Amino acid sequence: MVARKTVWIGTNWKMNKGPSEALAAAEALKSYQPPESVKPFIIAPFTSLQVVAEKLKDSDVLVGAQNMHWEESGSWTGEISPGMIEECGADIVLIGHSERRQHFAETDWTVSRKMAAALRHGLKPLLCIGESLDEYDYGVTDETLARQLKIALHNVAVEDLPNILIAYEPVWAIGAGGRAADTDCVARVHTSLRQVLIEIAGVEIGGRVPLLYGGSVTQDNARSYVEQPNVDGVFVGRAGWNVPDFEKLIDRVI
Ligand code: PGA
Repeated sequence: MVARKTVWIGTNWKMNKGPSEALAAAEALKSYQPPESVKPFIIAPFTSLQVVAEKLKDSDVLVGAQNMHWEESGSWTGEISPGMIEECGADIVLIGHSERRQHFAETDWTVSRKMAAALRHGLKPLLCIGESLDEYDYGVTDETLARQLKIALHNVAVEDLPNILIAYEPVWAIGAGGRAADTDCVARVHTSLRQVLIEIAGVEIGGRVPLLYGGSVTQDNARSYVEQPNVDGVFVGRAGWNVPDFEKLIDRVI
């Protein structure tokens, strides 16, 4: 048993589950009672966000969006504002997922604007950072992550840091072509991220910001990550899309 701290376990549905499928999944999750130390969350597509948030309102499962713009409103065709996400009833918003950075030109600069905007709206940003395979091979993982983290937090007040989550998601570990990072690598990287957070915010606050690992997490390997120091949870894609599998994964961690 992993006896300690709160453990965050979430799944990103990505471009899956339109409103009716998402509603059925939320219905199934509504009565789920996680182990006491676990905070489960699901990250739904925009078109399903409101129905899912309404369904899970009084449950133990938090709900988040996958992206947002940093502006309040205006001529931004195809974009969704922080206020719209708030109005849907979401608790969390994903910022800077590598699929957004890779395919939709998201940059550290936009991530930084979005972090501040999310916090202004009372949303909990889940900041995703991660190095590419090239950066990993060149041995610049720590520098890359420190840069991403420092820019993302540049516009965030230290007193707001207790309201954020951070996921370390190496780009090379995500999705069907990815391979999960080994636990030693994750433990080492998280320790280095913790040092950066302490440098930014001091031990009291920087020492407590939850650091999750994501990238090919499965029912079989999830627990091995959460057992590492400075790993406060896991962020799951494919292995969490099916509700019974997601619940099983949580039950196997604790
Ligand atoms: P995966 O996705 O678990 O399917 O690799 C992880 C993620 O993108 O967060």
